[in-house]
Amino acid sequence: HIYLDNAATTPMAPEVIKTMTDQMQNDFGNASSTHFFGRTAHTVLDNARQQIATALHVKPATIVFTGGATESNNTAIMQTAAARSGEGKHIITTAIEHLSVLNPMRALEKQGFQVTYLPVDENGEISLADFDAALDDETILVSIMYGNNEVGSVMPIQEIGERLRDHQAYFHVDATQAFGLIDINPEALGIDMLSASAHKLNGPKGVGLLYRDEDVHFEPFLRGGEQETKRRAGTENIPGIAGFGTAVARIDIAAKQALQERYAGFAKRITGALDDAGVTYHINGNLEHERLQHVLNIDLPGVSTYALQTNLDLAGFAISGGSACTAGSLEPSHVLTAMYGADSPRLAESIRISFGSYTTQDQVDAFAAALIKIAKRLLARAVNA
Ligand code: PLP
Repeated sequence: HIYLDNAATTPMAPEVIKTMTDQMQNDFGNASSTHFFGRTAHTVLDNARQQIATALHVKPATIVFTGGATESNNTAIMQTAAARSGEGKHIITTAIEHLSVLNPMRALEKQGFQVTYLPVDENGEISLADFDAALDDETILVSIMYGNNEVGSVMPIQEIGERLRDHQAYFHVDATQAFGLIDINPEALGIDMLSASAHKLNGPKGVGLLYRDEDVHFEPFLRGGEQETKRRAGTENIPGIAGFGTAVARIDIAAKQALQERYAGFAKRITGALDDAGVTYHINGNLEHERLQHVLNIDLPGVSTYALQTNLDLAGFAISGGSACTAGSLEPSHVLTAMYGADSPRLAESIRISFGSYTTQDQVDAFAAALIKIAKRLLARAVNA
């Protein structure tokens, strides 16, 4: 079986598994205990925080470990809205955020907040003119993803950060898909809060981070003990956090650029093979723009997502028909809907292929061959039916 669904999750790196099993076997202590076992666990926690802070170019004290990006997003959005509701009731986000941003926004609307969902064009990109028109004195929070998990489009984070420097609104960025792939410096970009998750970069599931600038204040989302300097209660997941540290440390900045180029090359091999075979397709997004190159979303006119995905699965290829979180439901992708409208045939005939650090060119070529064979078979069947 060949795995091409790395935007959903990634296999754990052997170094990560080793770090985690070492922790589980030897250093099982509670990081809050004052005895030897606790102190050892605390050192592991400090080391992981340092590794991640180094990768993000921030101080270790600004990193809060969470149970994943869903928790980080919920915390950043719900808690800043609560803390700042006296200063304004307006929030800006985009129509193509992950559900762990969109659903907190919907909950806030029920509480009386007013949320602007910036639209996207056919490339899955927002416009700064729309952003400028939405921003006002009532805006207390702007939450915009770095790059999209379904189509790979990248948002103008630097430009928005510049516009918010002299504005009261906090700037939160969901960098879950971008963190392992793009070098991000929150301070230089004017980002106040940032979410990321370990399992998207060959780390374990159920561990994430929330970076927050020292000037950003809000009550903890999870109340209880004084862990994470009172910012997130609950006994720390030491094996998971240590694995997250190892996962982040194994990708250096130079490697990120190389990964982006490698994935762009993979995408070209697939589109090139489709061109050569004369199979009609559209890219959902724009391969010529700055983007997260590990995500490739393709529309094959006349071929249903469901048929394509099941046939590819039978042939041994794991890809996604949309995002993993919504793939199980019959709801069409909210991202493709925002890009092409609810009536677009692309909603029912698109697939997402996503590469990871263990994807090889041979796998990509085998996939392209299988995709062409299956697409041609399904198209012939449609003509004969
Ligand atoms: N944000 C984005 C953009 C994602 O792709 C995901 C992945 O599912 C999440 C948030 C949620 O992350 P987690 O699975 O760590 O809760």
